Amino acid sequence: MIKFLDLLQVNFLHKEEIEQRLLDVFRSGWYLLGEEVKRFEVNLAAYIGTKHAIGVANGLDALRLILRAYKELGLIKAGDEVIVPSNTYIASILAISDNNLVPVLVEPDPQTFNIDIGRIEEKITARTKAIMLVHLQGRVVYSEQLRAVATKHNLKIVEDNAQAIGASWQGIKTGKLGDAAGFSFYPGKNLGALGDAGAVTTEDDALAATIRALANYGSNQKYVNIYQGLNSRLDEIQAAVLDVKLKYIDEENAVRRMIAKRYNKEIVNPKLQLPEIPNDEQEHVWHVYVVRSVDRDELQQYLTDNGVQTVIHYPIPPHKQKAYAEWNNKSYPISEQMHDEVLSLPISPVMSDSEVTTIVDLLNKY
Ligand SMILES: *Cc1c(COP(=O)(O)O)cnc(C)c1O
Repeated sequence: MIKFLDLLQVNFLHKEEIEQRLLDVFRSGWYLLGEEVKRFEVNLAAYIGTKHAIGVANGLDALRLILRAYKELGLIKAGDEVIVPSNTYIASILAISDNNLVPVLVEPDPQTFNIDIGRIEEKITARTKAIMLVHLQGRVVYSEQLRAVATKHNLKIVEDNAQAIGASWQGIKTGKLGDAAGFSFYPGKNLGALGDAGAVTTEDDALAATIRALANYGSNQKYVNIYQGLNSRLDEIQAAVLDVKLKYIDEENAVRRMIAKRYNKEIVNPKLQLPEIPNDEQEHVWHVYVVRSVDRDELQQYLTDNGVQTVIHYPIPPHKQKAYAEWNNKSYPISEQMHDEVLSLPISPVMSDSEVTTIVDLLNKY
């Protein structure tokens, strides 16, 4: 069987190094807010090219904390609106509504799966304060036009970089394109921990200090609390593992890119719509490789029957979820069609050439 993602093998690429660092943390007797987190934060900030990186407990918290910090700094207030793509993973939207802000859904570009930048301005009102820019599937969404719209309307750009670590636009990494960015190191992400983990990157000193305090009970000094904060810290154990894996992220993303290129070149079945390979302006990191088919469920069954695991990212659009019942009657046709047609094929740094060949052959026979 070809697994969708063989996490054990992904982590075993660096088995000795990871086991050594785990043991070091265990034997250090220091498990939170220590040297491992500091080291990883410095290395992540250097990798992305930002002044600050702040380790937090997970990707959702990273995004929640950015918006919460803007509220504490007086730049956003309850009831304000945040633009977000209608086909994103639900966490991008939860981060907005959790802060008593109003998510304003904007349809994606059907070619890129990312928010349609041309549709943003028509949704801006006097209450709009930010754009949550999601680099979905590992594909960058950014342009000078977008920056101009944000500047003109005085909007913060918050990047949801959960799926795109290592991607770049004109040589600038995602995580540095906006005003602040949230990262997820959920085990299945391109840079995955051995449990939950996340981070925020930003150039903004005030924002960084506020997030650091908010994530640690609202405290900027032991037993002094300046905010009603939460507990959202990155563990030393997870930081140590991530610090090992960060060194290899470019190499591993390059393998994903090679597999994506092979799929695009070798799959020639007209029943399948393949993703677009972006031009040289941007580097895509292929968190997932998504094909579209009008008979998606049959296609998935066919691959399952032939020993290939696939996943649907995602089966239900956010506006059709019970959690957002107030949107259930609204129509976002581009998103709805995507959710009916998408299927993610296996792609990972541990897939062999022959596995790719097997999948290509199966799809061409379908
Ligand atoms: C994974 C993911 C998140 C949430 O990250 P967690 O670490 O699971 O909380 C947020 N946004 C997107 C787009 C994601 O893919």
